[in-house]
Amino acid sequence: MSKFKGKKVLVVGFGLSGVAVAKYMARQGAKVTVTDLKQKSELMESVNACAELKLEYELGRHNNKTFHSVDLIVVSPGVPLNIKPLEEAREKNIPITSEVELAAQALEEPLIAITGTNGKTTTTTILGEMFKADEKPVYVGGNIGKPLLDHIGSGATAQAVVAELSSFQLDLTERLVPAVALFTNLEEDHLDRYPDMQAYVSSKKRLLKACDKNSYVVLNYDDPIVSKFSEETPAKVLWFTKRNPIEIGGDFAERFSGCYYQASPRAIVCRLNGKEEVYPLAQFRLFGEHNRENLMGAICTARLMGVGQKAVQSVIDGFKGVPHRLEFVRKKDGVFIFNDSKATNVMSLKRSLASFVNNPIILIAGGKDKNMEFAPLVDLVRTKCKILILLGEAKEKINRAIGDHAETYLVGTFEEAVLLAFQKSRSGDIILLSPGCSSYDMFRNFEERGDYFKKLVNQL
Ligand code: ADP
Repeated sequence: MSKFKGKKVLVVGFGLSGVAVAKYMARQGAKVTVTDLKQKSELMESVNACAELKLEYELGRHNNKTFHSVDLIVVSPGVPLNIKPLEEAREKNIPITSEVELAAQALEEPLIAITGTNGKTTTTTILGEMFKADEKPVYVGGNIGKPLLDHIGSGATAQAVVAELSSFQLDLTERLVPAVALFTNLEEDHLDRYPDMQAYVSSKKRLLKACDKNSYVVLNYDDPIVSKFSEETPAKVLWFTKRNPIEIGGDFAERFSGCYYQASPRAIVCRLNGKEEVYPLAQFRLFGEHNRENLMGAICTARLMGVGQKAVQSVIDGFKGVPHRLEFVRKKDGVFIFNDSKATNVMSLKRSLASFVNNPIILIAGGKDKNMEFAPLVDLVRTKCKILILLGEAKEKINRAIGDHAETYLVGTFEEAVLLAFQKSRSGDIILLSPGCSSYDMFRNFEERGDYFKKLVNQL
């Protein structure tokens, strides 16, 4: 019998994750109440998805009393953990957990958890594709838009569960033990929710702390924060790096397990158990060094988990990228237009600019600021950008930080931004939407922003 049977469970936040929890708990025989500050009319998709279930609703408000009178509170990743009703519930020792933690407790398959500031979705997707190419059943979920709890009780079995986990999803994990934990990189992000960088890193580190001596961690050697994680874990370490381990010096080359980039001929070399395999990149289509990092992380993990070499190579050759991540939209009058709407922080914007070598860039940036510093973009803007077009809530702030380093325009709407970018462009230029900010000032999410951009671009 389920330990949740007859228990009063409060689900806080009614998005994808909240729906998954409500369904799971209802299946377990719990008495489920759902609360969200949004009005019912804004949540109809979720309400309809649960139409068959007997749920109590407290929408458009939180009722503090309910928070005190339940046996368990399950908080969605989008809900800040310091809201008053949660703090009060914590004082009253009401257990508070998350969808990811519930799933981790119930999972039977090995969990491959992927986190970091950027590259999570790309790495997760590539890895999932590698399993599929080898006809190994896999569940790919988490922050990528498929709740992990949906897998539990679905009847499907997998050889592994590949989960993209955001820092918000890690904030409440307790007993999750990954078979593999992969860290892509760590830089400033979400400083609108965490008090400082240290708090954000601590949240990501929960995944490192969750590893035991049977786990593997896959670490980006070139990231100054992530590379230090090897000193803080009993887990076995695999690295990925853009440098040949021999150049790194010391005894690193002898100790090295994982993947490194070989520049000529372009390939990824994967060394596991002392044996080296070479994966040519001649057909790899994704732009930028950062995407090679994502690929290396995925290759080490795939090979570690027994995915065959042929399957790995077939994904390298055939993978077309994930929409909204440096996605090529069209070439119009010799101008190459890219949608990188998912670049919601300064680091990803930096990496996108760095991905283009010779062509002058007309950059469209701005959106909702997450309390980030834009000054680190100065050098790249100076060397790569012909024109800056800024919009959204953060446009003045970005302008003050980098506006003196390229011809800059501040505009009011997306339509203006796209039209101006195209008017100013010449054959050989790149128009790049890479906002460096979240989308919530003008759109529901980055997908809506990217789709709207693509629509405008296709109308040009
Ligand atoms: P995440 O899921 O962590 O947000 P995505 O794969 O969705 O990562 O990519 C988000 C943004 O970051 C995109 O703009 C993409 O071009 C950029 N990006 C992807 N991989 C990396 C990486 N390894 N380092 C820095 N930026 C990256």
